[in-house]
Amino acid sequence: MKINIIGGGPAGMYFAILMKKADPAHDITVCERNGPDDTFGWGVVFSGKTLANLRDADEESHAEITRNFAAWDNVDVVHSNEKISIHGNSFSGIERLQLLKILQRRCEQLGIKLLFRTEVADLDSLRVNCDLLVAADGVNSTARKQYAERFRPALDVRPNRYIWYGTRHLFHGLTLTFRESDAGVFAAHSYKFNQTTSTFIIECDPQTWEAAGFASMSDDETRQYLEKVFALDLTGQPLLSNNSKWINFLLVKNANWFFENVVLLGDALHTAHFSIGSGTKLALEDAIALFDCFRKRKGVPASLEAFEATRKPVIEEYQAAAQESMIWFEKARDYMHLSPIELAYSLMTRSGKVSYEDLEKRDRDFIASYKEQKAVGSRQKV
Ligand SMILES: Cc1cc2nc3c(=O)[nH]c(=O)nc-3n(C[C@H](O)[C@H](O)[C@H](O)COP(=O)(O)OP(=O)(O)OC[C@H]3O[C@@H](n4cnc5c(N)ncnc54)[C@H](O)[C@@H]3O)c2cc1C
Repeated sequence: MKINIIGGGPAGMYFAILMKKADPAHDITVCERNGPDDTFGWGVVFSGKTLANLRDADEESHAEITRNFAAWDNVDVVHSNEKISIHGNSFSGIERLQLLKILQRRCEQLGIKLLFRTEVADLDSLRVNCDLLVAADGVNSTARKQYAERFRPALDVRPNRYIWYGTRHLFHGLTLTFRESDAGVFAAHSYKFNQTTSTFIIECDPQTWEAAGFASMSDDETRQYLEKVFALDLTGQPLLSNNSKWINFLLVKNANWFFENVVLLGDALHTAHFSIGSGTKLALEDAIALFDCFRKRKGVPASLEAFEATRKPVIEEYQAAAQESMIWFEKARDYMHLSPIELAYSLMTRSGKVSYEDLEKRDRDFIASYKEQKAVGSRQKV
């Protein structure tokens, strides 16, 4: 089969790897507008379950990924200068650039053509020249825009702003930090992803953003302002910028996932708020799901139909849980009156995917402290 792929991100490269590995006769080309070392972002997070999926799909890249990652089992919640740790959660982090390098090497090993610095503008000629065109071209997908009548996308720009930084302060575990200032409430999502660096994403609501005056600040002024807000947490380490800018989260859905021989994959197809797990995990799992459809069926139309039929319900469930989590962060200021342990409980159960009973199994001490706090609270009310 001749397969053209737009986008050398995790979704496009991983799908190429799985297809070529299964049948070396496939002629696969990946077009990527950037160079092999130009990337953005810091670390990406995977759950234990995602890693198991990656191992089953391609042992070679899994071995390299796990050789390079940082693993932890705790979620830490920092509120009112108190840190609450909840154990029994399995996560790991890897640098995005390192992940892309591993996938690039694997593509080259397998004989996949990677065309860097190749911007795809003429989609029509690319699609008639192949059996399958995969548009894995990211959240601002050109293919989704050009074929909007076929895919019927629904795009929802959310009100909160967020900005991705790195820092040399190492956060051992997924750390959710809340800091209140004169402007409002800031939340940071942070985790280490190698021996020297952590991701540090800062999120705030539009009122806080306006009150802080970010609209008229330069990138350096913004960074310095946020370093002051999180001074206690960063322990004197600066925030590291990689051309970091404030962005509004874009929620992406598509009524149709494919038409004729063109299919969307990864962020081009759907997004889920970063507070529930990274887009990278979904991108890689999309690639596995699409590959599985080709493995089990004959022909492009049947495989693409099966992909939409089987993967869509999974993504819809994921997006529903992510929606609850996203809304929790959009309303973070309403939770600031809670005690640190109550806030931690509210956070851990926000998506509806983790229950009281789950938490009791994961971390008995945490639930015991939570129950004790609730009992004290109700005695004080009497
Ligand atoms: C600023 C920013 C920072 C982020 N940082 C992190 C992070 O630290 N951790 C994390 O887990 N997630 C991060 N994300 C989210 C994460 O990047 C995505 O969820 C994930 O990479 C999705 O994978 P993908 O392969 O679908 O898309 P992408 O990784 O976005 O890959 C799409 C690729 O397509 C290329 N492309 C697009 N259009 C064309 C075209 N017309 N022609 C040729 N090439 C094209 C792009 O250059 C890109 O390389 C970040 C997102 C943004 C916007």
